[in-house]
Amino acid sequence: MIRMEISFLPLLYAAVLLVAVLVVWLAGAWREWRRRRREWRELGQCRLCATWVRPAATELWRCPSCRALNERTVPADL
Ligand SMILES: [Zn+2]
Repeated sequence: MIRMEISFLPLLYAAVLLVAVLVVWLAGAWREWRRRRREWRELGQCRLCATWVRPAATELWRCPSCRALNERTVPADL
């Protein structure tokens, strides 16, 4: 059994709580980063009028504002 002074217990509880909060916060931030990255990869930009759209999963998609045909490309990360 680990022996410690009673005055050390609040510090130990605070440290455990802070570590738990940090882990939950990091997990949430990581999920948000993955969600934004996935949304960014699904976007497409028209080569003619530079409109950002969410095209269908086909190789060729038509721009809704200028009706130009565009190829599906994977944009670079931000
Ligand atoms: Zn366009």
